[in-house]
Amino acid sequence: MCANCSEGQFECRAPTRRSALFLTASAVGLALSGNALAKESKQPPKPQNVLSPDASLKRLMEGNARYVDGVARRHDFKHEREALVGGQNPFAAVLSCADSRIAPEYAFDSGRGDLFVCRVAGNFAGTETIASMEYAVAVLNTPLILVLGHDACGAVDATLKAIKDNTSPPGHIPSLVDAIAPAAKAAMRQGGEVLDQAIRQNVIDNVAKLKSAAPILNAAVEQGKLKVVGGIYRLTTGTVDLIAQG
Ligand SMILES: [Zn+2]
Repeated sequence: MCANCSEGQFECRAPTRRSALFLTASAVGLALSGNALAKESKQPPKPQNVLSPDASLKRLMEGNARYVDGVARRHDFKHEREALVGGQNPFAAVLSCADSRIAPEYAFDSGRGDLFVCRVAGNFAGTETIASMEYAVAVLNTPLILVLGHDACGAVDATLKAIKDNTSPPGHIPSLVDAIAPAAKAAMRQGGEVLDQAIRQNVIDNVAKLKSAAPILNAAVEQGKLKVVGGIYRLTTGTVDLIAQG
């Protein structure tokens, strides 16, 4: 990445901290995908990505500020490619809506290998997403998860409509509605700007869900190795407003 190419030769350095969690994580990595992953976790190709949860959040928000101000960095994709052939150590994970207007890598002005992004309409944490985040935290040592909602979310709006009209959307869409319904119902009870409230509540609920997901994510949070935070992406400005901090 542009900003970090100056930091970087791409020699691998082992993380300085080891822990019971890490050992457990290595075992998980081995179980998941064999020796290559275990090796990956020991040799971060981007040494500048080895950060504390707070430093990770700071870097993420600084990237968002550059994006908002239109001063995004020039990314050196060629050298990033070379650095990342042997593995990855993203400094943050993002659970984002699939909405095409969001694009977390742009919104946080980040390079490849920097963000571990899971996207699904309505940015909720289903089983597969929790498993993906477990991989990011336990195997890749990612210190931060951001649940990223956004203004005018179609998935949340569709959920509100389905509840109000007591109808079921076509196809597989009810699976989204079911996941978002608790936040939507809570917002409807509160009144006011129901869509905005539901979007906000959905982020808060999924931050709580990821924080308490046993046995991997909750342990990482308890040990101070992981923070799970929530934010709302503003469509007009590109600003990410943090609404739930660990
Ligand atoms: Zn959305």
